[in-house]
Amino acid sequence: MIDQKLELSAPDRPRVRLAPSPTGPLHIGTARTALFNYLFARQNRGSFVLRVEDTDRQRSKKKWEKDILENLAWLGLNWDEGPDKGGPFAPYRQSQRIELYRPYIERLLKEEKAYYCFCTKEDLTAQKEYQASIGEPPRYTGHCRQIDPEEASQRVKKGEPAVIRLKTPTDQIVSFKDQICGKTDFNTSELGDFIIAKNLDEPLYNLAVVIDDFLMKISHVIRGADHISNTPKQILIAKALDLPQPEYAHLPLVLSPNRRKLSKREEVVAVSDYRNQGYLPQALMNFIILLGWNEGADREIYSLEELIDRFTLEKVQRSGGIFDSKRLTWMNGYYIRQESLPVLTRMCIPYLIKNNYLVEVPNGSKKYQIKETKEIVSLGYLEKIIGLYQERLKVVSEIPELVDYFFKKELKYQPELLIWKDKDKKEIKNALNRAIKGLSNLKRDWSLEKINEALIQAADEIGDRGTILWPVRAALTGKENSASPFDVAYVLGAQKTLERLEKASKLL
Ligand code: GLU
Ligand code: ZN
Repeated sequence: MIDQKLELSAPDRPRVRLAPSPTGPLHIGTARTALFNYLFARQNRGSFVLRVEDTDRQRSKKKWEKDILENLAWLGLNWDEGPDKGGPFAPYRQSQRIELYRPYIERLLKEEKAYYCFCTKEDLTAQKEYQASIGEPPRYTGHCRQIDPEEASQRVKKGEPAVIRLKTPTDQIVSFKDQICGKTDFNTSELGDFIIAKNLDEPLYNLAVVIDDFLMKISHVIRGADHISNTPKQILIAKALDLPQPEYAHLPLVLSPNRRKLSKREEVVAVSDYRNQGYLPQALMNFIILLGWNEGADREIYSLEELIDRFTLEKVQRSGGIFDSKRLTWMNGYYIRQESLPVLTRMCIPYLIKNNYLVEVPNGSKKYQIKETKEIVSLGYLEKIIGLYQERLKVVSEIPELVDYFFKKELKYQPELLIWKDKDKKEIKNALNRAIKGLSNLKRDWSLEKINEALIQAADEIGDRGTILWPVRAALTGKENSASPFDVAYVLGAQKTLERLEKASKLL
């Protein structure tokens, strides 16, 4: 059992969090961060917290929050505390925690560890240009540090626009031991006095994270390496507020095959897109874990239970994981083959419905109607169809194009499709007629075994299997590639098989 409720918040149990910003759909990189956090929490019998970081009011959208929660749940990454579940440190949405941050900001101002900055955009640009001209990296110069705090709060009260900056010590080294990247140093001079809040009620990301991680008793911050430059800022804020520092572990970036940061211009990055295309959550999970973790064994397939058992932060690689979509598709094929046929069929049916091949017969009879022919078919029959392709299916959404011929009244194809190698039309027509003859006798005993026997016998009479099996298969499917003629004929049934063979024979 993966998701047994844990003895929550035992003091020595780790608490980790996923802190997505709802500014877009669940990204594959965020799903990976979620998975690493989840595994770490489950393995150490700790808690996995979901915190929605929606302080950017303009870019945060409810629909993205919904997408993120739904798709994390679909992946099976269940969290113990979160906006939908509540928990001991609710609320779990930053927009609902605004009043919690205010005392901390006030404290920093009062203790003169932070100050109001009144610089305009133009002022800041001028400062940057000056720095560039003397070859210094751009950062805030500390221009407003000197302003008397009394005077500053008067100016703010009068409505003068301002932001709040942290007084960053100059030329000190912030050092932390990252559980993945090792000892990591930053010189504070590179940071400048960065902005921590727009005003008392609008903390920015770095400040809100520090306060929330503290209030939510987060012990380990496991997140993407794109956040590593935020870490020294967060450490400085924590120090200024006298708060304990969590452990940090920064996961290597996910890279496109060209080794640049994975981008949605080059790859599909939304988990919902993979879900809609018919990827299985197990396959995505298995794929994602190997983007950055490797236990040293030459092994590609892991179940979630096995991962909980074997995962360690020490085995997370330092270099970025390359996103190889072919590998993902291969893994998906593997998990499709592992699925039971009834489950796989249930996954395929929505795609057949969407393609207008099937409609569900109402009243819960578990029957379906083939749209073109009006035939009513059972779930069992659909299982037979899907069963023909379980071995080769890579992505569930491919199923309609593979099995279309079961749902069409008439197949459209060129007569040339029926021709095997260098045979001529007459030879093929003759072969088809022999097949028809052999199969007509079976009408009452339409079993795979008998079909096999009849076709092989006809082929042996002709002296060449391809000459008969190719056109039979092509006539039944209208396709260059498909399942075997025996299987197709069996599932199609005697009547349709013979109709299609006769039509093909007439075409020649
Ligand atoms: N909200 C941040 C993001 O979505 C993550 C913050 C963190 O993990 O510290 O990128
Ligand atoms: Zn200023």
